[in-house]
Amino acid sequence: VMEVKLNLCCVFFILTAATVKAQVNPEMCRYPLGMTGGQIQDEDISASSQWSESTAARFGRLDFDTGDGDGAWCPDIMSEPGGFKEYLQVDLRSLHFITLVGTQGRHADGMGNEFAQRYRIKYSRDGSSWVGWHDRMGNQVIEGNKNTYDVVLKDLEPPIVARFVRFMPVIDPSLIVCMRVELYGCEWLDGLVSYSIPDGHQMIYRGLDVFFNDSVYDGATAQRLTKGLGQLTDGTWGLDDFLHSHVPGAWPGYDYVGWSNKTFPKGYVEVVFDFDHIHNFTSMKVHCSNMFSRGVRLFRQATCFFRSESEWEPDPMTFRPSAEPLSQSARFVTVPLGDRTASSIKCRFHFSDQWLLFSEVAFQSGSAVYNTSLVFSTCSCASSGDDPTHKVDDSNTRILIGCLVAIIAILLTIIVIILWRQVWQKMLEKASRRWLDDELTARLAVQTQAFSFLRSSQSSEDGSGSGSISTYERIYPASADYQEPSRLIRKLPEFAECSGTSSRAGVGSDGAPHYAEADIISLQESSDSGSITAINTNLFAGSDSTLREFPREKLTFKEKLGEGQFGEVHLCEAEDMQNFLGEDTLMEGSSKSPLLVAVKMLREDANKNARNDFLKEIRIMSRLRDPNIVRLLAVCVDTDPLCMITEYMENGDLNQFLCSLRLKTLTGGEADQQEGSNEVRYSVKLLGMAVQIASGMKYLSSLNFVHRDLATRNCLVGKNDTIKIADFGMSRNLYRGDYFRIQGRAVLPIRWMSWESILLGKFTMASDVWAFGVTLWEILTLCKEQPYSQLSDEQVIENTGEFFRNQGKQVYLPQPQCCPDRIYGDLMLSCWRRNAKERPSFQEIHAQLTESR
Ligand code: AMP
Repeated sequence: VMEVKLNLCCVFFILTAATVKAQVNPEMCRYPLGMTGGQIQDEDISASSQWSESTAARFGRLDFDTGDGDGAWCPDIMSEPGGFKEYLQVDLRSLHFITLVGTQGRHADGMGNEFAQRYRIKYSRDGSSWVGWHDRMGNQVIEGNKNTYDVVLKDLEPPIVARFVRFMPVIDPSLIVCMRVELYGCEWLDGLVSYSIPDGHQMIYRGLDVFFNDSVYDGATAQRLTKGLGQLTDGTWGLDDFLHSHVPGAWPGYDYVGWSNKTFPKGYVEVVFDFDHIHNFTSMKVHCSNMFSRGVRLFRQATCFFRSESEWEPDPMTFRPSAEPLSQSARFVTVPLGDRTASSIKCRFHFSDQWLLFSEVAFQSGSAVYNTSLVFSTCSCASSGDDPTHKVDDSNTRILIGCLVAIIAILLTIIVIILWRQVWQKMLEKASRRWLDDELTARLAVQTQAFSFLRSSQSSEDGSGSGSISTYERIYPASADYQEPSRLIRKLPEFAECSGTSSRAGVGSDGAPHYAEADIISLQESSDSGSITAINTNLFAGSDSTLREFPREKLTFKEKLGEGQFGEVHLCEAEDMQNFLGEDTLMEGSSKSPLLVAVKMLREDANKNARNDFLKEIRIMSRLRDPNIVRLLAVCVDTDPLCMITEYMENGDLNQFLCSLRLKTLTGGEADQQEGSNEVRYSVKLLGMAVQIASGMKYLSSLNFVHRDLATRNCLVGKNDTIKIADFGMSRNLYRGDYFRIQGRAVLPIRWMSWESILLGKFTMASDVWAFGVTLWEILTLCKEQPYSQLSDEQVIENTGEFFRNQGKQVYLPQPQCCPDRIYGDLMLSCWRRNAKERPSFQEIHAQLTESR
């Protein structure tokens, strides 16, 4: 933006340069000449002396600290005690019109303590003759700095035309002074180094003394004024009424240098102009008074002679102003100089009235006009940013305003574009969300990239029994509910109340943070209908619980059955269990005493959260009564370790059971010989298992209870191929501690999960139906392989996305070898329908399977 701004400024100034007057304008001509900016070279900065090498002249640059010096120029005042001759000299390499100077002390990041309270200025155009500057009232001493850091600017009134400038601190011998300086102005393109005139006269106007002398002339002042410049080149143009002046307090006639015709018998005033070198002059502009009512008129004729070498050329240029102007206003009269080359010009201005008054003379030669100077100076000034000396006249104010308006317009455009982009993005987001909501009643991030996977490091915990194959995968679900568990709790405050401990998460026995069961149920609620809430809440109410504490000492350890999330599962003899249970609960083999039971124990190092989860699983199971749901018989919770006593399922979990069944088949076991067709036999037997699972799920669905982790690994096999659904601790498996350890990561059985469960975090009866379809597939393949074993985890998720997109690219589990067509086509595939509402209910599944046996 800054670059654009600068370029715009340059362009504006270049375009408008032609409108700028050719004469030097002290108000415009105030550009830093290069002490701060570095355009002035070190070798062009010199001094009469220096306090030390680190305070040499080159360190005397205003607002500039190279870091290698001591932060300013400091003269060696001891070399000339009480002297006023110490100076810091700047060589500008060419003549400059200097309107302003700036000084500063030695700050040096707070280390310095020296500054010049007063100083004088001397200047020279040729480097040999020096002139002491003084203001219009004749004062030479300039008030300088009052501290080490502030820049003090001083207008040079009158301005000076010089190449060399000396700053001369007025030194108090008791103090060390140091200075940093800058010069402001512009290049003196006239090339005029001096003019020579007869000194001005005095007019008595109505009894008033009017002085037309050249009061600021800096050359020799004998009979004629020679070798100097003065009011004719000070950039100040006289007012129409010569009695008044721009300069406050000045005497009448101050702005003009004037002559009376009485002392010029030849009728003209001769002015000689000397230049720095030969120029090709196009014109001369003379600012004249024309107050003819007071005997003052423009010159009648100007005759100019040219000299390039020693002699004046014989053919002068003569010019007569075209017509007698009627107005009395002062004006510039342009005298054409016919592109004559010269280093000196001598012009004779002929009187046309009693008085001839000039206030300014300027020359134009070749391309050397102030326009160019202004362009470069303005641009360099703009790049320096906040130059405090930069003042503009009216014509350029408009230009600056133009610049600013353009910059503001550009900035506004940029802001509008940025805002528009943001609004557009938001609209797109909203639109996509709305589309998803309409389509799916939930938002969805289908991109596979949105998910990251890690194989569960705990395949042994998933109950698959394979040991080598991961069942639960860690994913980064799209739903925010996965990522911020407190949101889940907030969604179901009544649950938090009844659970008492649900609104917290802690660290599990494995050192990982653990998520409370209550939160899992609330997650169910978040995705299911309101009726579920009631039922699940009742499950936890516990007021009508029939669970009783079983005397621990009556349990006799027989063998270890396995190990799960909470700890080991033991086969135990439970003495007098049938009596304990009462007649309502008749257990198989209950006649025998003691009864064989499975005892799931909470490991001793389990933390409070795991303990609560364990108790909650007990509560859940205590409410479930179905022939195809593993029965919780009793608990031992009065003392540690906490135990839940369930019915013993002799054949372990279904996954292992089917695997071993397959092994028997492959090894040509006994069972194989008895039936003619393995496939038919297995199909009937396996479908019988599926019917039992469907029956158990029908029961759960009648309670609107969502299992979430239906799989063969979570079904147990008893005598006579009785199948019972177990593992209601899925919450722990699904939402165990890793969930918190790495934010947004959950452990999920993605190969059993419906697409909406994976992508939207929606768990419903219908997603249990999806899992049942996979479980059925497992059963009919005898758990030969993991579902989608040919797909990587990423591909499984990608496939989930295909289910959502529904463009026919989704991959279904293939038809198992011994699976009847109608079971696959009518049932299994229907469990995986994209639209959850189109999936069959467990009632329908149960009925269909029962029929097809
Ligand atoms: P769990 O902690 O429920 O995952 O159980 C761990 C393992 O213990 C299971 O994979 C089964 O092999 C075994 N098991 C659990 N409960 C029973 C049961 N009631 N009867 C027989 N084996 C069981």
